[in-house]
Amino acid sequence: MRVVGSAAALRRALAAVRGSGRSVGLVPTMGALHAGHRSLVERAVADGRHVLLTIFVNPLQFDRAADFEHYPRSLDADLEAAQVMGVDTVFAPGADEMFPVPPVTTVSVRGLGERWEGASRPGHLDGVATVVAKLFSLAGPCAAYFGEKDFQQLVLVRRMAADLSMPVEVVGCPTVREADGLACSSRNALLGPAERRAATVLSRALAAGRAALSLVGTQPCAAAGAMAGVVAAEPLARLDYAAAVDPATLEAPSAGAVPDEVRLLLAAWVGPVRLIDNCAAPVGNNR
Ligand code: AMP
Repeated sequence: MRVVGSAAALRRALAAVRGSGRSVGLVPTMGALHAGHRSLVERAVADGRHVLLTIFVNPLQFDRAADFEHYPRSLDADLEAAQVMGVDTVFAPGADEMFPVPPVTTVSVRGLGERWEGASRPGHLDGVATVVAKLFSLAGPCAAYFGEKDFQQLVLVRRMAADLSMPVEVVGCPTVREADGLACSSRNALLGPAERRAATVLSRALAAGRAALSLVGTQPCAAAGAMAGVVAAEPLARLDYAAAVDPATLEAPSAGAVPDEVRLLLAAWVGPVRLIDNCAAPVGNNR
């Protein structure tokens, strides 16, 4: 496994890879690697790609300075884990390498980037789109692997790549969960023991939302109510948003045009840690 820190070294390494006829599989991360990241790498390996894992805690996507400061960082352990996962090249640039000066050219995805995470964390999704566009530019033609865990991010990146004709195939991968249902996340490391137990409230709320929707005649907004009810019953948790949305637009479906399947989106604070989760939910036959 090769580790590079500069854009120039990355470009040289990838030119050699392409020269040997292999395609590149890009896995962008912010480090603190866990089983969710591993699943993206494994998918890229299974697809026969030269796996390029990037590790960069992107300052542009943090709406609160304290969140950026406290975000878990573990580069040495990450490099060991990446090797075991089967990564071929790691790009781990310093902040000065990625953004020597604050960029004045940024990417915003209108609509998709303004709802839910975009509304709760102003600037967050612009920061994501901008850094992902930059990583796509550095990586060149490739397949890029993103987790459904960050469903809005996945939909937004796919749309950005299509709108701007980026030579990137965006591949979505299922959410990996702990045994008790909590979605793997680097932020889980910030939970205290009682908060960690309480954090299962997100997956429990999603299950309640799915169950509500499976009842014939239920409208999607009832699922949002069911999710909110479960979160309200957990003393250590505070709801940010709960919604049942069209998986393509991430807008609430209008009453007359409910799709066969919606996406349940959930964000909640557990103690001081903000967590998100989501799942697909078939809609009971309303017709
Ligand atoms: P992050 O390091 O949190 O920015 O995540 C890097 C990539 O890993 C993103 O595409 C995430 O959606 C994905 N990811 C994070 N957690 C999970 C998970 N539990 N299951 C699957 N993919 C995940």
